Amino acid sequence: MKNTKSTTRKKSESTITAKPDAAMNLRDLLIDGLQDIYWAEKALTKALPNMVKNATASDLAYALKNHLEETKNQVTRLEEVFQSLNEKATAKKCVAMEGLINEADHIMEDTMQGAVRDAGIIAAAQKVEHYEIASYGTLATFAKTLGEEDAASILEEILAEEKAADEALSQLAEATINDEANDPDEEEDEEDNVIDDDDEDEDELDEEETDNDYDTDDEEVDEYVEMYTKGKHR
Ligand code: FE
Ligand code: FE
Ligand code: ZN
Ligand code: FE
Repeated sequence: MKNTKSTTRKKSESTITAKPDAAMNLRDLLIDGLQDIYWAEKALTKALPNMVKNATASDLAYALKNHLEETKNQVTRLEEVFQSLNEKATAKKCVAMEGLINEADHIMEDTMQGAVRDAGIIAAAQKVEHYEIASYGTLATFAKTLGEEDAASILEEILAEEKAADEALSQLAEATINDEANDPDEEEDEEDNVIDDDDEDEDELDEEETDNDYDTDDEEVDEYVEMYTKGKHR
């Protein structure tokens, strides 16, 4: 343990020798960053369908599907950014996104399907969005500094989509999914929750019990899950 630590410290303290093709200026750095995020977006078009399939809440599945379509469109617009810079669209492996996608897979393996996995999917997806927000924010600023207005405006457009996707995920988590994941036994505790949430007396609630909002939601979710597990969306 002691040896590992000292090795890590030595490595981080040394100055890294630049590769022969290293960026010489801000324009090179912009191109490198675009190649990185281009790879990342392409990887996400393959990773997001799996997150959709694993989501139980229909509103979460919808939000992810919607962002999948947006992501496909972002790939196309990144190609326009390359074009506006007279550069060939090239993807260069983004090790950070590869890691975030691996983490998403692990979170899904480590959670029971249902509200808990949904909360985990949101956590994983928001890490992805935050990486993208940081990337597009930087790239748009680089493009602006370079006077590349067309590139900058496309990058800012994409940045706005990533921020909206992140915000939508926060809202889903805070409105319903986190609370559902916090419920140790959703089915049995439903009745208690209704009583806790409403000020109506117990007699009234007992009558409504068989036809409450929670039951309706569950049916909708079941239908949705069935649809997805059968792969009808393909
Ligand atoms: Fe994206
Ligand atoms: Fe990266
Ligand atoms: Zn994003
Ligand atoms: Fe995104």
